[in-house]
Amino acid sequence: MKIADLLNKYYPDKADKLFRLFPRMENTARETDVIPWEEEFGIADRNPEAAKEIEFWSKLADMKAISEEEAAKKISEIVERCGAVSITKGVAWFGDEKKVSFRDRVPEFHVIVHELGHVHFEATDPVWASVYGGGEELLHLIYGGRLENVFEDNEKAVSNYIKLLELGYTDRDAFFKVADGIAERLVDKLGLKFEDSDPIPMPGVDELINNHTSARMVLFTGSIPSADNFPQNLLVCATSAIIYRDGFESLWIEFLKELEKWQP
Ligand SMILES: [Zn+2]
Repeated sequence: MKIADLLNKYYPDKADKLFRLFPRMENTARETDVIPWEEEFGIADRNPEAAKEIEFWSKLADMKAISEEEAAKKISEIVERCGAVSITKGVAWFGDEKKVSFRDRVPEFHVIVHELGHVHFEATDPVWASVYGGGEELLHLIYGGRLENVFEDNEKAVSNYIKLLELGYTDRDAFFKVADGIAERLVDKLGLKFEDSDPIPMPGVDELINNHTSARMVLFTGSIPSADNFPQNLLVCATSAIIYRDGFESLWIEFLKELEKWQP
């Protein structure tokens, strides 16, 4: 059985809508096998997503993008999380192998979409999962109707969101070039005026604000930018503003529309 068969069988209306909004995802769903569940998929070293994520953090440590200590901490978190077998509802193999497996015979719709997204966007959890502020969050805003007619190409909007977040982990300078570039275009286009702020007594925050227009935009929309993980913080600001309609959603929608135009 393929993912497309599973979706069409149990969620025909939802599948129609998903594939109308993300037509190339339908091709991936037709190509991706659903294989039987084995209890060991819920254990960290037998879980293909955990393995990809461990590879992701180890690679960052090798590139010196994060320290060995940070990588070790992230990896022990994954082992702890995936060790709790009862919470793993599905797993995906992506990259060369395309297959998924689900614990339940009839998985919930969002669980199927989560695993399909891994395969389709070839993205590991830190840049895909909504719990990490990944691209899944944007997909659900589009699917749920909040951003249904906003983008010309929904898949490109989600894919660029994932790629920008990934750059935030792998190449901070390249990340800021894109993020600040978009923020600067919006300042010009919308005539935004960022007031000078009083010093913020948190390590690294003033430096971030003084050097990066994207960080000033976060401050302008009412949040203190995070010096620890600004890339994730920036994108979560965008999606939360839209979810909670905090008054700045139209600015963040413009941000995401500009991000869709980016050619990575
Ligand atoms: Zn996942």
